[in-house]
Amino acid sequence: MADCIFCKIAAGEINARVVYEDADTIAFLDLNPQAPAHALIIPRRHIPRLTAAEDGDAELLGKLQLAAVRTAKFLKVEGAFRLVTNNGKAAGQSVDHLHYHLLAGRKLLWPPG
Ligand code: AMP
Repeated sequence: MADCIFCKIAAGEINARVVYEDADTIAFLDLNPQAPAHALIIPRRHIPRLTAAEDGDAELLGKLQLAAVRTAKFLKVEGAFRLVTNNGKAAGQSVDHLHYHLLAGRKLLWPPG
């Protein structure tokens, strides 16, 4: 989608530190990391947020989870990490392209703030 920063990263039009990619998903390091390891895992196709996913996206959502596992392994944090999506502004979503945050490398508090 025009004007979507994550679509531009997926298309290679904006640089990012890519740590995993396949035909349907791409993962890259967050510009403003909240933990020693902080990556974002996104579908290449523009889906604004998790609640915008439809029945036909079930396979893609599964692939995103597997991409997260591969990202965790690449970053060598597969033993302990958090995978979270902010769905909607009040939940902290600032980029309207579905993404999972993978956070690791420090003690993660629960409940999150
Ligand atoms: P959220 O607030 O859940 O929508 O998360 C958006 C995340 O995208 C934030 O953690 C930002 O630091 C990150 N971000 C925004 N622009 C970029 C970019 N060009 N490259 C990497 N991460 C980005």
